[in-house]
Amino acid sequence: MQAILDRITETARAATDRGKVATYIPELAGVDPQRFGIAVALADGQVLHAGDAQVPFSIQSISKVFTLAIALGRLGDRLWKGVGREPSGQAFNSILQLEHEHGRPRNPFINAGAIAVTDAILAGHKPREMLGELLRFIRTAAGDDDIHINDAVARSEQATGHRNMALAHFMRAHGNLANAPELTLGAYFHQCAVEMSAVQLALSGRFLMAAPGAPRMVSPARVRRINAMMMMCGHYDASGDFAYRVGLPGKSGVGGGILVVAPGRASIAVWSPGLNAQGNSKLGTEAMEHLARETGWSVFG
Ligand code: GLU
Repeated sequence: MQAILDRITETARAATDRGKVATYIPELAGVDPQRFGIAVALADGQVLHAGDAQVPFSIQSISKVFTLAIALGRLGDRLWKGVGREPSGQAFNSILQLEHEHGRPRNPFINAGAIAVTDAILAGHKPREMLGELLRFIRTAAGDDDIHINDAVARSEQATGHRNMALAHFMRAHGNLANAPELTLGAYFHQCAVEMSAVQLALSGRFLMAAPGAPRMVSPARVRRINAMMMMCGHYDASGDFAYRVGLPGKSGVGGGILVVAPGRASIAVWSPGLNAQGNSKLGTEAMEHLARETGWSVFG
């Protein structure tokens, strides 16, 4: 496995087309596109890594996996009243479908759906309490207390996130947001600004590989459902392509991270800040494809 990770890192380091770093969140625009790190937490407890795997990065939309886990724990199936579970086939921040479908987002991983999930777990709490619960969940899952929110990134998105504001207000207009949009958005921008290294992220995803010895954060039935959502919706309008190329459930973020689960075998995290046209890490996707090919890991047999 170490040899595979070293080879993947070498290939990534040499790549000339690295995709484009997200610039719509100004604080993320300055991240070095040459960065590349990969980490694998195996079912037997070993953690292997290569490249910049210990450098923290902005997990952005990967946080949606943790908020979904918390929301399902809190609301159970009631969550699905306000958000669907179908792939959207649309860009991560699209408003088109939301209007057509009367303010009920397609799934918990597009921005509108994630804002609705955050709104659901915020109900009855202050944003600070909700974010505290999220950090506790992630730190427990990773077995590492040194995981934090980068306030500058959160503020940067808060100052510029007009599309997300539009989505939140639109849902509120349809009665599908319980809290004031500003409160929900504040919590959402901060959850996206959680920082982790690839090693920490791989460790935090162990609960989804459902191996003996992995932290048990949610029930086995729920693990399967979260993995199903990641497979169908984890890469926005490139989710089908990711399933075809990698064959494992995964969730990407515009910070360039991807968390992938090989059920029963491993939790894998990769980071390369340059994104492809659909807003997923370009070299990160290629690295996961490479890893799946070399290990033969796939949920499809
Ligand atoms: N905070 C980002 C946004 O809401 C998350 C998007 C992503 O990581 O894909 O635009």
